[in-house]
Amino acid sequence: MQVIKTVEAIQQILQEYRYASKKIGFVPTMGALHEGHLSLIQKAGTENDIVVASIFVNPTQFNNPEDLDRYPRTPEQDIDRLKESACSIVFLPEVDTIYPADFRAPSVDLGLLDKVMEGKYRPGHFQGVVTVVSRLFEIVQPTNAYFGRKDFQQVAVIKAMTKALSIPVNIIECPTLRDERGLALSSRNLLLTKEDIQTAYHIYETLEYGKKIVALHTPSEVKSLMTNYFMGSKMELEYIEIVDPISLEELTTEWVEGATACIVAHCGNIRLIDNLELTPYG
Ligand code: AMP
Repeated sequence: MQVIKTVEAIQQILQEYRYASKKIGFVPTMGALHEGHLSLIQKAGTENDIVVASIFVNPTQFNNPEDLDRYPRTPEQDIDRLKESACSIVFLPEVDTIYPADFRAPSVDLGLLDKVMEGKYRPGHFQGVVTVVSRLFEIVQPTNAYFGRKDFQQVAVIKAMTKALSIPVNIIECPTLRDERGLALSSRNLLLTKEDIQTAYHIYETLEYGKKIVALHTPSEVKSLMTNYFMGSKMELEYIEIVDPISLEELTTEWVEGATACIVAHCGNIRLIDNLELTPYG
């Protein structure tokens, strides 16, 4: 496995793959890698001739400077884990490699996709995501790029962005990896105490509860019952939304296939995000 820091070096290696019509699989990450990230890399390994992973904590997608400062960074450990995986190239750029002085962020109209949920509570977050992912796609030019459904709204935004900018890449959505009690694996879990983790299990319990009651209620009713159910917790609820999986429009009276409940809660000062497909007719 090679660790590459510059655009020139990675492009030189990858262009040989492109000339030979080999498939390049790409997994962008912000590091502090866990089994969830590794599941994306493993899938990429089975579907491509070479797998590139990037580790870059992107400042433009953090709307809160403290959140950026305390975001976990474990580069040596990450590289050791990647050596054991299907990853052949790790791209580990500095901020000015991704954003050189003459860099211009693309402008993409995301419509509703960046106005609701994360878009509403983290203003500017998805423009930051679009900026970094489009720049990484420009550098790596992958055939297939892998994203976790844990960041459900991010997948919708990236699909819309690649379409709007006509970027020739397949966006592959991968299932959320959870621990034995359902807590979605996340780099931010490293910032939780053992007690916090026990508390955080209530996020998945709330999602599962929503799934159990779905056949008996409208989406609005399920949302309010889930909110009540969540309230027994020490965590602070930021939002629960039940949305159409493609448009992200809030569902109120009618269910659609793939209706998804999205939740964000603060466990201490750590912001945790999760979602579950409620599939009412499934
Ligand atoms: P991050 O490093 O948090 O930006 O995540 C990098 C990629 O890994 C994103 O596409 C995430 O959605 C994905 N990811 C993070 N956690 C998980 C998980 N528990 N299961 C599956 N994918 C995940």
